[in-house]
Amino acid sequence: MNADGRFAPSPTGELHLGNLRTALLAWLFARSQGARFLVRIEDLDSGRVRERYVAEQLDDLRAIGLDWDGEPVRQSERKRLYAEALERLQREGLVYPCFCSRREIREAASAQHGEDAELVYPGTCARLAPAEARRRTAAGEPHALRLRAEGAVVTAVDRLHGEVTRAVDDIVLVRRDGAFAYNLAVVVDDAEQGIGEIVRGDDLLSSTPRQALLCDLLGYPRPSWAHVPLVLGPDGQRLAKRHGAVTLRDLTALGMSPRQVTAWLARSLGLAEPGEEPSPRELLARFDPARLPREPWVLEPPEPPA
Ligand code: GLU
Repeated sequence: MNADGRFAPSPTGELHLGNLRTALLAWLFARSQGARFLVRIEDLDSGRVRERYVAEQLDDLRAIGLDWDGEPVRQSERKRLYAEALERLQREGLVYPCFCSRREIREAASAQHGEDAELVYPGTCARLAPAEARRRTAAGEPHALRLRAEGAVVTAVDRLHGEVTRAVDDIVLVRRDGAFAYNLAVVVDDAEQGIGEIVRGDDLLSSTPRQALLCDLLGYPRPSWAHVPLVLGPDGQRLAKRHGAVTLRDLTALGMSPRQVTAWLARSLGLAEPGEEPSPRELLARFDPARLPREPWVLEPPEPPA
């Protein structure tokens, strides 16, 4: 099996302990199998990306003892690849313009599925007559481009979660602002970079059937997936800045060394004992995916144990 792995942060903020823990795990999965490990900077969302985080995130990964093969690639420099993939889908008649606003989509989705519905696109613009869609596009009406998924029900297999099946909605490929959407870019990059196993936070588990469908339609071999548990704040919510000292910078300011942070992460994964400070390399021999905790790690205040 191809076990080449990657970590693909978005430079929209500092990495927190949850991101660092996922990065450590992705590194352990790849390196324990003697595979390549790549870093990819997912910087397509130009409104939210801040350049300083690119360097800071790489510094943090290095500081906790991770290494990677080659220079990190940046999605903003790979738009030609996404454009080519989009054209392939267009040639197959699998792409249509969508003129709906977010509000319209929310209203239509909740009318169909009730208030709690996940934001699933109900396919309004898929039913527009082609001439009508062309007229509105030519008139310069703002629009996204969506995949004609035709209600495909897709099963993806995850190493930790087993089979995940869902009906794929007509996902956005190009956003209204012209940016290539995450789901398209991630599938193209993972395939083009030869990634065999995608290790990432389990908040992305539900997107996996969508990405599996895109892989199939683009003729890429599917990678395998391992979605790892998230880190939660003491209130049970997904870890965030408001939970206090959660970044490497915060923790070093409190007197913790990066090595102690790595050890803390390792303890949370059952890979180290209190008092030990193993490097990621020293964790390789202890790492067994089958014994990973399946539950989120709930960070307890007071924060770092000494
Ligand atoms: N860039 C995404 C994020 O930071 C991760 C994408 C992925 O791992 O597939 O949430």
